[in-house]
Amino acid sequence: MRYQNYINGRWVDSEQHDPNRNPSDLSDLVGEAAIATPALAQEAIAAASAAFGAWSESPVQLRADILARVGHEIVDRKDELGRLLAREEGKTLREAIGEVMRAGQIFKYFAQEALRPHGQLVASVRPGIDVEVTAEPVGVVSIITPWNFPIAIPAWKLAPALAFGNCVVFKPAELVPGSAWALAEILSRSGLPDGVFNMVLGRGTELGPVLTTSPDVAAVSFTGSEATGRRIAQALGGTSTRLQLEMGGKNPLVVLGDADIAVAVDAAVQGAFYSTGQRCTASSRIIVTDDIHDRFTRALREATQRLRVGHALDDATDIGPVADASQLDKDLGYVALGRQEGAVLACGGERLRCASDGFYLAPALFLECESGMRVAQEEIFGPVATVLRARDHDHALELANDTPFGLSAGVCTRSLSAARRFRRQLRAGMVMVNTATAGVDYHVPFGGIRASSYGPHEQGWAAREFFTAGKTSYIRA
Ligand code: NAD
Repeated sequence: MRYQNYINGRWVDSEQHDPNRNPSDLSDLVGEAAIATPALAQEAIAAASAAFGAWSESPVQLRADILARVGHEIVDRKDELGRLLAREEGKTLREAIGEVMRAGQIFKYFAQEALRPHGQLVASVRPGIDVEVTAEPVGVVSIITPWNFPIAIPAWKLAPALAFGNCVVFKPAELVPGSAWALAEILSRSGLPDGVFNMVLGRGTELGPVLTTSPDVAAVSFTGSEATGRRIAQALGGTSTRLQLEMGGKNPLVVLGDADIAVAVDAAVQGAFYSTGQRCTASSRIIVTDDIHDRFTRALREATQRLRVGHALDDATDIGPVADASQLDKDLGYVALGRQEGAVLACGGERLRCASDGFYLAPALFLECESGMRVAQEEIFGPVATVLRARDHDHALELANDTPFGLSAGVCTRSLSAARRFRRQLRAGMVMVNTATAGVDYHVPFGGIRASSYGPHEQGWAAREFFTAGKTSYIRA
């Protein structure tokens, strides 16, 4: 299968292509993807600019109908699209189908958001004048996404951008062009006028600067690593381009002495290792008070060792492969680093040989970590979890807040007052009580604080803030 760019209502091939390989089985070539040039990205921006005037004035019913059609088709094809996603990204088929379902639900949600009333009519302090406050589309939006949620993250940016009357240029991550192409193909048949939706495939380092700094781009919505996010922010310094960055995390899960052990272990295993730990919200920093530490870590280690690592399409698999060779090297590097730093490797951390040749890694659990260790501070983005020992609740809270990040955080406890205190004092954009730090709803705001995020939050009703610009009009009759 050859994945092409989509510009101004046409499929456009490139001279060069990248292979798209299955990380569960390197002999399986999923497809090959066009590598667009910066000039093509310019063309996409020009097409989006030209389409903006008419689309920004299009009837909301038209937008709602289009988004609903897209959402229904995604849901109807969830098994097929989930299979493609699992093949190219490596999460298990069950997780991949769940992600596709979510993408469909997001489009259906924003179909309705397009219709929801917004704006205010306010009495003026002056006689004979009305004041109207409205939310207008912002213009051309560049949407740049990572590889770990190849359809859900594009959906949660594209759907609100289109619902509120913007035109977009979408650039998916290099590793996952298949899911992006499948989504683009659905959008191409949805009734969107030419130029409203465009997609360029290829290298972020080459296309990124055009997509972010073009004077015709009004807004950039980016999800990816902190390093890339900071680079974009620097490039846009001094401009008036709107910017939304969702970046990394080192999400603490606190387990207090009165926690239900089964609940806490389930939250830790789900949060740290499912989706191969490749989630921005992964529970990679588990903080356990002394009074429950040994019982909890024993149970956590047993549960971790029970996880079955294997081919993403095998029903028996709990944990699929790591997404690619460089991420696997990074994970193995952090396992070696954790040992050097003096953390105790309780299990895992070694490359596994399975029936097919893929990037398999046994989930790694480090105990007795110190807060300042790099393995406990930096985002690894793999199936590597660290456990820190806390003296008491105050110490647990201090450790939980002792990283630069602030995406998601959790606490496991049966005490209402402890839950309330942690919920209020954990410094994160999302807080979970007795559930994993990863795993969120699609109809409510999503996002972090501190080094994890910049700009308005995404999803739910929060999405309107970034994808619209306020206008206050004074009308004398
Ligand atoms: P990445 O930063 O390497 O790439 C993200 C996207 O940016 C890709 O499409 C890439 O091509 C593009 N890009 C690369 N250089 C660019 C440049 N100079 N200008 C513009 N775009 C450029 O990230 P990744 O490895 O694909 O994804 C993993 C990261 O994403 C992790 O750090 C993870 O925490 C983060 N993430 C965050 C969230 C969240 O909502 N906070 C969700 C998922 C993933």
